[in-house]
Amino acid sequence: MSRALEAGELVLLTDRKGRRYLLTLVEGGEFHTHAGSVAHDGLIGGPEGTQVRTTRNAELTVWRPTLRDYVLKMPRGAQVVYPKDSAAILMHADVFPGARVLESGVGSGALSLSLLRAGAVVVGYEVREDFAQQAVGNVTGFLGAKAVDRFQVEIRDCYQGIDAEGLDRIVLDLPEPWRVVPHAAASLRPGGILVAYTPSIIQAVQLREACDSGPWAFASTMEVLHRGWHIKGDAVRPEHRMVGHTGFVTAARRLADEEMNLEARLRPR
Ligand code: SAH
Repeated sequence: MSRALEAGELVLLTDRKGRRYLLTLVEGGEFHTHAGSVAHDGLIGGPEGTQVRTTRNAELTVWRPTLRDYVLKMPRGAQVVYPKDSAAILMHADVFPGARVLESGVGSGALSLSLLRAGAVVVGYEVREDFAQQAVGNVTGFLGAKAVDRFQVEIRDCYQGIDAEGLDRIVLDLPEPWRVVPHAAASLRPGGILVAYTPSIIQAVQLREACDSGPWAFASTMEVLHRGWHIKGDAVRPEHRMVGHTGFVTAARRLADEEMNLEARLRPR
């Protein structure tokens, strides 16, 4: 269903060269670039995908930003998890509507946005107050104030423990995820999933070693290589440039406690 753009909405303006500008529509407002200006009133009331001309005759197209557009443009303190990795994390962590998820660290809230948009109820542990605030601001900016009802950020150190039981999922993006593994085992329900994103393979290895000595199954580590293709007439080839490295995604699934295992249950007491 097509819905007209309204004042107060966040929009993305794109030009022919692929430049992108994020702004909020305001009645009577004007958007300025070096390529001229556009009146917001000429966009309000119209559909997305509308093309307009600036005062200097440059063409701009207006869109509601996708989550990907927003994450790449929003203010950030900490480095964000890139969209290709957030997508993989959502699938590996099997995030579902209503899932109880602990996320740490929260950083700029890029990954939080993906988790919340997939319907999760997220508790975030973040050591830095300024990042926590920025994350809440970024979440509100894209998903609105209502989404913040499902996003509770606490200023605390995840290495010190997790104050929850029966969690469905734990998603980590912090420097020493192996230090969280014992806490994760205590607070995830059987069948729950732990996922950690780490820029370095050394971190992934250390995490895997920590999982080896706990109630974990299906431990796996992967990375996402995203290579775009240039397709124009007869020129069909991979893009010349690609992001060579971002990080690794490690996942593991929590087993039931030993006493719940079939073998242990059948063992004579
Ligand atoms: N995933 C985030 C980025 C996280 S950056 C995003 O997509 O935007 C890593 C974050 O972990 C930083 O904000 C850092 O302050 C936080 N952090 C580091 N150690 C931590 C700890 N022990 N407990 C909680 N947060 C921690």
